[in-house]
Amino acid sequence: MKISIIGGGPVGCYTGYLFAKEGHLVTIYENHPLIGSPIQCTGILTNDFDDFGFPLKSFLVNTINKIEVISPSGEEVLIKQKDYIVCRNKFDNFFADLAKKAGAKILVNHSFIRKEGKAVIIKDSLTNKEIKVTPDLVIGADGPLSPTAKAFGFYNSERKNYYGVQAVVEGKFEPGTIKTYFGQSICPGLFAWIVPESSTIARVGIAAVKDSRKYFDKFMKENNFKAKEIQAGTIPIYHPRQKLHQDNCYLVGDAAGFVKATTLGGLIPGLKQAEIMVKSVLEGKDYEVEIKPLRRKMKIHLMIHNILDKFSDKDFDKMVRYVNQPKIQKIFEQHTRENPLPILLKAGLKEPRFAYFVKYLW
Ligand SMILES: Cc1cc2nc3c(=O)[nH]c(=O)nc-3n(C[C@H](O)[C@H](O)[C@H](O)COP(=O)(O)OP(=O)(O)OC[C@H]3O[C@@H](n4cnc5c(N)ncnc54)[C@H](O)[C@@H]3O)c2cc1C
Repeated sequence: MKISIIGGGPVGCYTGYLFAKEGHLVTIYENHPLIGSPIQCTGILTNDFDDFGFPLKSFLVNTINKIEVISPSGEEVLIKQKDYIVCRNKFDNFFADLAKKAGAKILVNHSFIRKEGKAVIIKDSLTNKEIKVTPDLVIGADGPLSPTAKAFGFYNSERKNYYGVQAVVEGKFEPGTIKTYFGQSICPGLFAWIVPESSTIARVGIAAVKDSRKYFDKFMKENNFKAKEIQAGTIPIYHPRQKLHQDNCYLVGDAAGFVKATTLGGLIPGLKQAEIMVKSVLEGKDYEVEIKPLRRKMKIHLMIHNILDKFSDKDFDKMVRYVNQPKIQKIFEQHTRENPLPILLKAGLKEPRFAYFVKYLW
């Protein structure tokens, strides 16, 4: 098959690799001049990433073993979880190299412009020339605002996007601990983060639906941080009614909105989704059917997000107090947050007071 992939991010390149290694003719079109740049990501991966079997050392910056959750009134709880912090530039280039070695062609400075019948129109930004391509499959891996999904007429306009702003800062940090700060005046609808690269450098940021920059500036000021470099970008929230396939077009990654609504982590869901999509296409199975188990996990994240979205500062204080018990912490230590259902069920059984928050489901 002749396959055009729009977007040379990690999910687009991994999809390209998966098709190319099976002998398909793959071209990846990336609108930026370089793969992996500009960086718009904190680069946190849960240790579920180990399941893929990729050589971490090509892009690993730091390894985390604890997450500190800080409530609005300053109550704290430490949760043991192993996370990896990666360099997104090296991470993206790792997947681009993988795709190229398998035979995929990557064309940078090439933007998907529009659809014309069965053809897609790609513009070379160096020559300003438009190229008409007629592939068997078009893969939209072109990020949260997916021009491909829009051109093919199935971008769900109900989708909700966050806008993340972060800075690389210098200071004194505990290198094995991520700090997260919750509260209406800190970061409504999510949390502010301090993610160490080392004991002297950290990635500090927030993400919100509106006024992101205002909350970011306030958090930076309150912590006396000075930005060495600012990075920002749109992050989609999973939407259960976003279709993933129409005509000969398939969506993956942020283009499909496959981002955990609890933490806004999209890398692992996007890579897993790419594997499921490629396998269903190659085996002639229905992508929407095969993706159901991953959709179920994304829905649980969305449900937790919808509950947390209605929390008052007092609710966050209460939650931190409930989690700060050995019996609950043990559950968090045994499960990855990639799949939150076992955590919810076990925590609910061990601490019935969590039931108080169920009222926010409606
Ligand atoms: C501030 C911030 C922090 C984040 N932190 C984390 C984190 O810690 N962990 C995590 O898992 N996720 C995080 N994310 C989310 C993560 O960055 C995304 O989920 C991930 O990049 C998705 O990969 P992708 O390949 O689907 O899309 P992208 O990485 O967005 O790649 C899409 C590519 O398509 C290209 N493109 C767009 N339009 C066109 C076009 N018309 N023609 C050609 N190319 C086009 C874009 O230039 C881009 O290179 C964060 C996001 C932000 C903004």
